[in-house]
Amino acid sequence: MTTYGDLSIVPRTLLGPGPSDVHPRVLQALAYPPVGHLDPQFLNLMNEVQELLRFVFQTENSLTIPVSGTGTAGMEAAFANFVEPGDSVLIGVNGYFSERMVDMAGRYGAVVRRLERPWGEVFTPEEIEDALRAQPAKLVALVHAETSTGALQPLAEIAGIVHRYGSLLLADCVTSLGGLPVQIDAWDVDIAYSGTQKCIGAPPGLAPLTIGPRAREALEKRTTKVPNWYLDLTTVAQYWGAARTYHHTAPINMNYALREALRMIQEEGLEARFARHQAHAELLWAGLEEMDIGLHVEPQYRLPTLTTVRVPAGVDEMAVRKTLLERYNVEIGGGLGALKGQVWRVGLMGYSSQQKNVTLLLAALREILGR
Ligand SMILES: *Cc1c(COP(=O)(O)O)cnc(C)c1O
Repeated sequence: MTTYGDLSIVPRTLLGPGPSDVHPRVLQALAYPPVGHLDPQFLNLMNEVQELLRFVFQTENSLTIPVSGTGTAGMEAAFANFVEPGDSVLIGVNGYFSERMVDMAGRYGAVVRRLERPWGEVFTPEEIEDALRAQPAKLVALVHAETSTGALQPLAEIAGIVHRYGSLLLADCVTSLGGLPVQIDAWDVDIAYSGTQKCIGAPPGLAPLTIGPRAREALEKRTTKVPNWYLDLTTVAQYWGAARTYHHTAPINMNYALREALRMIQEEGLEARFARHQAHAELLWAGLEEMDIGLHVEPQYRLPTLTTVRVPAGVDEMAVRKTLLERYNVEIGGGLGALKGQVWRVGLMGYSSQQKNVTLLLAALREILGR
């Protein structure tokens, strides 16, 4: 039998598409001893986490909870609960994660209609309106911050259109929540989910989810049971709500970590936090442009949290990422799908969004590329 040494993980600077760096305060919270999932102390913490999540989502939605599982569990909860077999779902497809939505909605029996845009572009309100006028849909799904392309999909105007045509608006906010404005109530988004390991600054493992009044009504009107037991919001909500009925054991320590990460967001203030993400992204963009390296997304739709950087001609993109990791302990991401081999993906999310990280990455790239 092999004997194994103590756990030994070299810390990295995480500047990829996620996970992002976790602040020591959040790591410390994670290390508290677990208590029972119905312990009064934990029940109290559940209330605090829900209140703090409402704060970052900018919502009064009572059903605002951290789903057990990563961001994809949030996506799965959204489609499992709001799609019934035969429902028409309109999905804006302009990147890797909207393709995942198409696959998932189809598995729950949706009749999926794809509205397509090249990777790196976003949808206009007119396009959404035209699509709904041509054929109504129960649900319209869009990715707010597309981590595979670096594009930011404006939602404010689209929500009004979607509602005028009697549909629900579902938004993937995995790479936006905690890093740029996500105004669930002001924009009137019906269903939104995120993940803890991107701009929230906690480890991966929970998926913040918020459900508005129209969506709750749709849930109550379902004629079939939610086909996913674990993510069935009609029963999960009873554990997170007043009844506290056992459903599954909440990941206790992950909730400790999430509480601390959310508390740090509250301390920093949303506006200051968004300004920090924007300022460091702009610093990165300016530094890259100075090196004559291009960016994939038009400035007005560029995400501050994730930048897609065009790989210069003749450069082996994978070798650069390998050198960054081995020599500088810096992780960045490669391109996915349509952008594979063409871009690097640089994330400046949560605790990773720091000036010193931008300086380090730019200096490292300058050395590696000889620019
Ligand atoms: C990361 C990500 C997901 C998936 O989250 P996981 O935590 O990897 O399951 C979904 N959507 C977007 C936009 C993402 O960036």
